Amino acid sequence: MGTDFGDVLRGRGLRSTPGRRAVLRLIESARFPLSHGDIMRRLRRRAVDRATVFRILDDLVRVGLARRIGVGDRILRYGPPNNPHDGFRAVFACTSCDRVEELEVELTLPDRVPRSLRRRQVQLLIRGRCDSCTKS
Ligand SMILES: [Zn+2]
Repeated sequence: MGTDFGDVLRGRGLRSTPGRRAVLRLIESARFPLSHGDIMRRLRRRAVDRATVFRILDDLVRVGLARRIGVGDRILRYGPPNNPHDGFRAVFACTSCDRVEELEVELTLPDRVPRSLRRRQVQLLIRGRCDSCTKS
């Protein structure tokens, strides 16, 4: 965890504030994509209000430090951006429980995909039943 999130933010033209650093750290370290509610719960001890967290998330997405993940349940979640150098993240969403998980996948986009479509904007969603739901 040696990342200096202040440097990361400034590198994308954002001022480094305690709230932005905290949200970015949460998104980068979480095992699962986080919703606004998840982030609010994890920020409990810090005085960052709901509207500020929404603005921070919008800012992070706009500058490419986070990506929005929609899995069809009307809850937006946020995860780290896709980086062509360290793999592509697909999202698994269980159709029985509300489990959502990010998976590293090897993915080569076909030539037909418009060149203007940057990889980090592509979202691959895999739906099915997770292992614990399959057992029951
Ligand atoms: Zn499940």
